[in-house]
Amino acid sequence: AHLARIEATDEKVNAFLYVDREGALAQAAAVDAKRAAGEKLGPLAGVPLALKDIFTTVGVPTTVGSKILEGWIPPYDATLTRKLKEAGVVIIGKTNMDEFAMGSSTENSAYGPTGNPWDLTRIPGGSGGGSAAALAAFQAPLAIGTDTGGSIRQPAAVTGTVGVKPTYGGVSRYGMVAFSSSLDQGGPCARTVLDAALLHEVIAGHDPLDSTSIDAPVPPVVEAARNGSVAGMRVGVVKQFAGEGYQAGVVQRFNESVELLKELGAEIVELDCPSFDLAMAAYYLIAPSEASSNLARFDAMRYGLRVGDDGTRSAEDVTALTREAGFGDEVKRRIILGTYALSSGYYDAYYGSAQKVRTLITKDFEKSFEQVDVIVSPTTPTTAFAIGERTDDPLAMYLADLCTIPTNLAGNSAMSLPCGLAPEDGLPVGLQIIAPAMKDDRLYKVGAAVE
Ligand code: GLN
Repeated sequence: AHLARIEATDEKVNAFLYVDREGALAQAAAVDAKRAAGEKLGPLAGVPLALKDIFTTVGVPTTVGSKILEGWIPPYDATLTRKLKEAGVVIIGKTNMDEFAMGSSTENSAYGPTGNPWDLTRIPGGSGGGSAAALAAFQAPLAIGTDTGGSIRQPAAVTGTVGVKPTYGGVSRYGMVAFSSSLDQGGPCARTVLDAALLHEVIAGHDPLDSTSIDAPVPPVVEAARNGSVAGMRVGVVKQFAGEGYQAGVVQRFNESVELLKELGAEIVELDCPSFDLAMAAYYLIAPSEASSNLARFDAMRYGLRVGDDGTRSAEDVTALTREAGFGDEVKRRIILGTYALSSGYYDAYYGSAQKVRTLITKDFEKSFEQVDVIVSPTTPTTAFAIGERTDDPLAMYLADLCTIPTNLAGNSAMSLPCGLAPEDGLPVGLQIIAPAMKDDRLYKVGAAVE
């Protein structure tokens, strides 16, 4: 049924870069055979899932939305891919994304933009727009995203779905193509809080193949999602997540959510986190710096595309021609920015200062979580904007992540879930819930209560 739905809708939505029809049917048949033989089934046996094209899948193309990996077939599975398969999940395909996860609209994909199923002339968010659109278009009940500065939560917000950025280190990054290694985090996307929890439990946990993976028990997310409640909880509202640039309908739905939390027994606490105003600036130094280093491996020798290798050119020239042809504008912009920020003489002024801001943001969170159990905010300042509206203005594009970036810098966990439609345009609005590191279960407890 999901394959048929993809066939009927994806010409318009363009959520998928690759539909693995045969592989999916084979995985489903394997589950049926196990069931018939009376064997023990995995916790998500037979459930279809749309996988962001940033996770390696053995035998199935992985492009990261880039021409530079066109034609590359990974020889190994990401840990997350392996865990999904072990749980019996049927991976139906790989979803569209901004190239190397750099973007907020999926317009930076080398394979064309994805449409928002609510209105195909609008963006589905990014970078994980394909995964979110697949959920909103009922092409799959579950999906996977990655969140470096908001790429799970912002797409969830603008498509009326649920997305969770787990605690940094909660889900293995092994086999997840690196953008900014100290910020990148894979996580679950779904249409309900409980579905997201069931997926979260399957993909989370310690992985010796990822040196930043946390060696501790997975927070009890499913139990929390089954027992939604905010009674007696203290919920923080941060002063800095408001003001200029926030759409009226987004503010209205957010305020109603705060009222609902009060009605359900939560105590609202106002918080001041002055360093959050610097988060965007710090992010756009740290993320491009790490990207410029991570993307050095795409040298035309190791993977995918190779341009100009006709026997007359030097290796350097082939590398340059390949990177020129294989990387899109935004990726080039970030490599240049990051290389500059890391260059000797500028390192302390840019990268060093950004890391100091990062510490201040972590401290603001720590101080806040002494006073509250969770923090809430709008996920993103506006509803889905029109395709093409912000492509010429990178700074306007970057603003989509104003409320999501501080969490990545601090490494704690956050969820976006739907909180109604904006009256002025009838488009979905997302409520963000933020919890301390390794307290991801609180997201689900609160999310399930207000869903
Ligand atoms: N939109 C942000 C960026 O362009 C975040 C992307 C992400 O989370 N992968 O970097």
